[in-house]
Amino acid sequence: MSKSLTHQQAMRYNRHIVLPKVDLDGQEALLNANICIIGIGGLGTAAATNLCASGVGSLTLIDHDTVEATNLPRQTLFSEQDVGTNKVEAAKARLTAINSDCDITVMAEPFSAPSSTKGNTQLSPALKQAIERADVVLDCTDNTDSRDLINLLCFKLNTPLVSGAAIRFEGQLFVAIPGESRCYACLRTLFESPDLSCVEAGIFSPVVNIVGTYQAMLAMQVLMDFDNIPKNTLMTFDALSHEWRNWKLPKGVDCELCAC
Ligand SMILES: [Zn+2]
Repeated sequence: MSKSLTHQQAMRYNRHIVLPKVDLDGQEALLNANICIIGIGGLGTAAATNLCASGVGSLTLIDHDTVEATNLPRQTLFSEQDVGTNKVEAAKARLTAINSDCDITVMAEPFSAPSSTKGNTQLSPALKQAIERADVVLDCTDNTDSRDLINLLCFKLNTPLVSGAAIRFEGQLFVAIPGESRCYACLRTLFESPDLSCVEAGIFSPVVNIVGTYQAMLAMQVLMDFDNIPKNTLMTFDALSHEWRNWKLPKGVDCELCAC
């Protein structure tokens, strides 16, 4: 049974509710939603903070890493006292302080990857369940193997996916809604990106926060059934030219997964 906003919650989210495109229905859609965030680094912490504060009812956070001092310049959910502790536990403590109504499940497990998108996944049943019960999945990971696996699972489980990436001064976003739009594998056939990490290439701190925050916004718009979701579109952001660009995927992409 779906939950209704309490009087206190309706007051708290008033600035949202007065927006005609959100209204009570939109805020209640957030309250009843479960969003799974895979990767609690720069993207994941920015996304989780916005989703939790905005009134999303349930979050599932997946990451097996611990907080390091080199994370602190951009993963602003963490403090110096968190260094050496588990990321998902530290994130849960801070997020609960922001919004105690948000039900947060944490999974400190590695996200295993198959050798190809056709291979059998080695995902634990608990991780699979977490994605299965999510209304939207946010891919906040930093490697292509995980991205391929998350796309495959979201496609098979019919779960909308909001993918984000950031490196150097560049960010990118892609939304995949099974049955309604192309999948992340379609994008990969067109833009074969090198699997560079932020350790090797560097990352300008605000860029990950911008992309993670944008992922949160897109997820909320998907949940509230907005009609402006950028489907079949790669969105890119360049912090040096200050340009946002939308790249439409051409028709006839040869994708072995969604066969668009
Ligand atoms: Zn596809």
